[in-house]
Amino acid sequence: MANDKMRFGTKVIHAGLSPDPATGAVMTPIYQTSTYLQKAPGDHKGFAYSRTGNPTRKALEDNLAALENGKYGLCFGSGLAAIDAVIKLLKAGDEVISTNDLYGGSYRIFTEIFEPFGIKFKFISMEDASKIEQAITSNTKLIWAETPTNPMMNIIDIAAISEVAKKHNVLLAVDNTFATPYLQTPLNLGADIVMHSLTKYLGGHSDVIMGGLVCKDAALAERLYFIQNSSGAVCGPQDCFLVLRGIKTLHLRMQRHCENGKVIAHFLRNHPKIDNVYWPGFEDHPNHDIAKKQMNDFGGMISFTIRGNSKEDAYKVMSSLRVFTLAESLGGVESLVCHPVTMTHAAIPKKDRENSGIIDSLIRLSVGVEDVRDLQEDLEAALSFV
Ligand SMILES: *Cc1c(COP(=O)(O)O)cnc(C)c1O
Repeated sequence: MANDKMRFGTKVIHAGLSPDPATGAVMTPIYQTSTYLQKAPGDHKGFAYSRTGNPTRKALEDNLAALENGKYGLCFGSGLAAIDAVIKLLKAGDEVISTNDLYGGSYRIFTEIFEPFGIKFKFISMEDASKIEQAITSNTKLIWAETPTNPMMNIIDIAAISEVAKKHNVLLAVDNTFATPYLQTPLNLGADIVMHSLTKYLGGHSDVIMGGLVCKDAALAERLYFIQNSSGAVCGPQDCFLVLRGIKTLHLRMQRHCENGKVIAHFLRNHPKIDNVYWPGFEDHPNHDIAKKQMNDFGGMISFTIRGNSKEDAYKVMSSLRVFTLAESLGGVESLVCHPVTMTHAAIPKKDRENSGIIDSLIRLSVGVEDVRDLQEDLEAALSFV
């Protein structure tokens, strides 16, 4: 069956994959090799050296491309290595317009690695696409968007931004780590590049660090493959195997993440010690209509603040939780809790952070796929200490 005919729950298991031609192994083998036999110089079976290409990595890259409804997939040693490859499409003097409320590591690589090389970054709120248009200059080459945003769960209208990007001949890249292709497919909404931290929901089991890119355009893909091979931030075949295995249950896990997320979001909203709850599934979330339009469901990422906004109270709640683990990262089967101010967003200046709503008592949950009653009871008990 052609990849583009398969439905999502079939694609995660089959797209881009076939039994191993050498042995019939049903699961993609881990091709633990750096190099490949050539019958005569240049006469090989498509693989010459594993930085350039490896069959296990290729299977994952093809699978990922199919999930995002793209044509070309590329995998890297981490999500940040994938971002690094995208920014290397640019040169000194070029400008990037980025979401202001974005992953802390993305902010760090933009401002501390690429700005010294002469690439300029403007960080703006993208909830209003006309603001992006005002920020575009003749040097703007790329728009970098992340939706839902981290950790405030704002939703950016991908189709609206893509219209602006196309009008001004600017590339649009979307970090789809939070939503996953189960919830939204940015390429269908007009994006040129989709980026993933495969470390999160796609890997799904908190046991691997890896990143990926997907695009549709052949020339863009060729340039990205050139950068992948030339800069060399590739991933090993064992890690590719783990992500391939994780992806096979993506649809099942995401369904449960969404169900559990909904229960926990409503529980928190009705709790007397909680101030604000940020989750795009609430009908009064400021971007709920766009979320409903571009996403299939609302996910398991939730942030909330505690009444009185005390950091001590936030710390007390986080260290009293027994089922949720206090740790960075997200998207695994297990529930995690983190404190953006001291953990994921410590690299962002305090003023910029607070302007985006990232205040002292803000806590972010990655709601896992456990029995939701245990998650709710855990939060209830931890909140009784403040
Ligand atoms: C984790 C994350 C990244 C970075 O990915 P790594 O695999 O940790 O390098 C980028 N964007 C988002 C939204 C993330 O959550």
